[in-house]
Amino acid sequence: MSYRIGSGVDFHQLAEGRELWIGGVNIPHHKGAVGHSDADVLLHAICDALLGAACLGDIGMHFPDTDAAYKNIDSKILLSKTIELIKKNGYSIINIDTTICLQAPKIRPHVPQMQKTIATIAGITEKDISIKATTTEQMGFVGREEGLIAYATVLLEKV
Ligand SMILES: [Zn+2]
Repeated sequence: MSYRIGSGVDFHQLAEGRELWIGGVNIPHHKGAVGHSDADVLLHAICDALLGAACLGDIGMHFPDTDAAYKNIDSKILLSKTIELIKKNGYSIINIDTTICLQAPKIRPHVPQMQKTIATIAGITEKDISIKATTTEQMGFVGREEGLIAYATVLLEKV
């Protein structure tokens, strides 16, 4: 049995009139994340952490934002495809730990739904998916509500 750790980070701008998708959940807010896909910063960071742990490149390599096939795509599909690839390479997920950096709105009330959504896609339990959130105390682009960041760390085991 061997273990592999991976890390991922993702950034998106926030803009008026966009939907805000985080962790596969639509969060009511006057701003949403800008991107080629649905711009789900948390699912993108998790995809990159999974690919990193398996040394299989990054999300941009597998799902290029120049490809019309991924325009406005639901990032749950990207996560599902990434997990399929991980499994094909003989890996299974032990746990996922994440942090979202966002000034507003409050993320905490949506965390159980995010955990449930990701657990269903990943085939692991909600207790194996940690989702934390922090503001930046009004500092920088996150503090000015111009953008958001997500960090993810995953542990895989090769069976
Ligand atoms: Zn992204």
